[in-house]
Amino acid sequence: LSHVLSQAVLNLYPKTKLGIGPAIENGFYYDIEFKKPIGEEELIKIEEEMRKIIKKNLPLKQVFKTREEAIKFFKEKNQDYKLDLIKDIPDKKFSFFVSGNDDFIDLCRGPHLKSTGQIKAFKLTNIAGAYWKGDEKKQMLTRIYGIGFETEKELRKYEEMMEEAIKRDHRKLGKTLDLFSFHEEGPGFVFWHPRGLKLRENLIRYWREIHEREGYEEVRTPTLLSMETWKRSGHTDTFLDKMFLCKTSEDKEMSFALKPMNCDGGMLIYKSKQVSYKDLPIKMGELGTVYRYEGSGEIHGLMRAREFTQDDAHIYCTQEQIKDEFKNVIRLALEIYKTFELELSHIEFSTRPEKSIGSDEIWQQAESTIKETIEEEKIKYQINEGDGAFYGPKLDFHLKDSVGRTWQCATIQLDFAQPENFDRNYINENGEKIRPVMIHRTVLGSLERFLGILIEHYAGKLPLWLAPDQIVIVPIAER
Ligand code: ZN
Repeated sequence: LSHVLSQAVLNLYPKTKLGIGPAIENGFYYDIEFKKPIGEEELIKIEEEMRKIIKKNLPLKQVFKTREEAIKFFKEKNQDYKLDLIKDIPDKKFSFFVSGNDDFIDLCRGPHLKSTGQIKAFKLTNIAGAYWKGDEKKQMLTRIYGIGFETEKELRKYEEMMEEAIKRDHRKLGKTLDLFSFHEEGPGFVFWHPRGLKLRENLIRYWREIHEREGYEEVRTPTLLSMETWKRSGHTDTFLDKMFLCKTSEDKEMSFALKPMNCDGGMLIYKSKQVSYKDLPIKMGELGTVYRYEGSGEIHGLMRAREFTQDDAHIYCTQEQIKDEFKNVIRLALEIYKTFELELSHIEFSTRPEKSIGSDEIWQQAESTIKETIEEEKIKYQINEGDGAFYGPKLDFHLKDSVGRTWQCATIQLDFAQPENFDRNYINENGEKIRPVMIHRTVLGSLERFLGILIEHYAGKLPLWLAPDQIVIVPIAER
């Protein structure tokens, strides 16, 4: 579809320059530089041209060009972005796909369909601006998004889902129901109105009740911690561009940052007393409000805010307790989702990435324990090879809402690094100092995002126990 889209665009607007056109999780896109920027209304014209190309059923053939041939080809065609791409690829040989009799040829690894006629159902969905290579200093291109399906029926189902999603948009419902608002004085920050706060409190009450039952103890750690702490936990190496930094007015030596995660605070509490193996597992819960500087293009209502409260918890346990603790969190998460009539779509199991800390033995053991656990719990899962955190493997839960969209909510992560960085230990049966295992977990993800999902999932018609108003008395006249 990307290939056909770019062919159609060149047919209609011969002077355009093509960027990249990858497949993405939800469809595909192509970044294009138009001589004159186009509007959304022109997508219909491009779709028509694409249909013509599909109808011709042009065969798609792979050919290879050497570096010199590829450069010469794109120079002749004035395709500067493609030349830029080739510069970054170290290969000697480049794969191209030709449609028809040289009707159109584009740089692509493939694979492609055998011919354009195999495309059954598609739609161009929207237009956005995108910088070349995501770099703000580079040229702004037009990104055309589209989606494809094997049948018209599936496409129609998707369109219905999207229409329904627009109707249920939590930002719109939040206004109608007087729950929250957003203001340019604090972009990306949620202003909770009385009714919205009531809703939020109802969710928190349920969360507390169920976590107390499960043996969690709640803590609260400071919003600001010294930069020294963030350095020690490695946040300044990996997360600095998302952190809000603060200084005292006299600009004293010690500077602070708003917490982007709750882990460091929890670690400091753990260290404040000597832990014995008899104390383990320790389950420390925190409704921790964190701050992350998300780009202005990334913020999206409650779903992605710059200030949000995670339903966080850190579990400290022994190697032998990992399996039970994972099981407990999985069961707790499934129970909570059931309460909200959210269906589990699948779990993603992310394994050891290339850059990681900890020995081979520890990783192997941890990964096989997690795998055994999810298999014993009979949960559908997929493996994301090498997608784990550098400090340990993790499980991510994806939920399906009533419109059929999926959302990632809970995450359970094993961490071998932080107990090491912060020199945490416990005393075992023989009086020896041993490193505990740390598990980071959230079930809802963040209160804000989860409420956003719930508002859309229930189309604003919240369950009685959760709704800010349970009963309304309506005065009526005799007539
Ligand atoms: Zn954590």
